[in-house]
Amino acid sequence: MGTTLRIGVAAQDRAGGIAAIESAFNAVRKIDGLLSTWRDDSEIAQLNRAPVGAPVRLSGELHALLREAAHWSRATGGAFDPAVGALVDAWDLRGAGRIPSADQLAAASVATGLGRFALSDTGVTAVRLDAAAWLDTGGFGKGVALREAARALRGAGIESAILNFGGQVLALGSGAGDEVIVPVAHPLRRSEAVLRLRLQGRSASTSSQSERTLTVGGRRVGHILDPRSGEPVPPWGSVTVVARDPAVADMLSTALLVLGPEAGARWAERRSDVGVLFLLQRDGRVLPRWNRAMEAFLVTETTISRRG
Ligand code: ADP
Ligand code: MG
Repeated sequence: MGTTLRIGVAAQDRAGGIAAIESAFNAVRKIDGLLSTWRDDSEIAQLNRAPVGAPVRLSGELHALLREAAHWSRATGGAFDPAVGALVDAWDLRGAGRIPSADQLAAASVATGLGRFALSDTGVTAVRLDAAAWLDTGGFGKGVALREAARALRGAGIESAILNFGGQVLALGSGAGDEVIVPVAHPLRRSEAVLRLRLQGRSASTSSQSERTLTVGGRRVGHILDPRSGEPVPPWGSVTVVARDPAVADMLSTALLVLGPEAGARWAERRSDVGVLFLLQRDGRVLPRWNRAMEAFLVTETTISRRG
């Protein structure tokens, strides 16, 4: 998945700890084999190049993951949508970057959206409906992998662990020593912590548009696209989501970055199960805003007050 996974576990003995970690990495390898769009032999890569109109038989696992992604796509009004592949191509986000013409953008928008894939409700098949459509799993693959790694660790008898997958952290455990303090970085200066979160039995995922950008003709183009407009999300700041399920945290941080701080805050205020923190860049300053559910995770610092 193009990043680093670090796992630390508390185990009865060294051999047991190492075996548990091995099983977690094997679980992640399995998810990579299902979801990676960076290799040709993954299951998703085969669906992504399937002939248009021909039903493809999926594993029950991939089918369930795509249904889960579709659920969160609907729940976020289409802000989260892994079927943005045609737009990734139009903006050449996997190459040097490009500003598409109006015609190219219109064509890519037509080929965008989970509606371009027919997922059966009864069987485990999917049909690709447009020659330019493909599923980009970058917005949820890491979260799914973390969830499966945690399942493997628990299966191996581990009750307390810390996992960090390219910045997305999962703190497993319910004991007194299992709290993990996670810094939330400044949206522009990654090494500078703006706030800290206290996690236990939860995962924190951050999405920002300032992290990986290409510069095309003087314009900065980020890697997160608004499927509704076809445009890259403007670099307004970052979103951190805390949830029990790391896949949900991953999907929602991407979705809320697309929704933006206003619509995103309205969406987040209605949810009591996920903590949401927005860091807004305003005139060189950073304004934090969070929903009520986030309050349980913020390490209180007297200089910070709730806004919005
Ligand atoms: P990161 O991978 O940096 O942790 P995210 O979890 O926010 O960041 O995922 C961003 C990735 O999600 C993009 O690189 C792309 O592969 C994919 N993506 C881009 N736009 C969307 C979108 N609107 N919905 C779902 N996935 C998206
Ligand atoms: Mg994400």
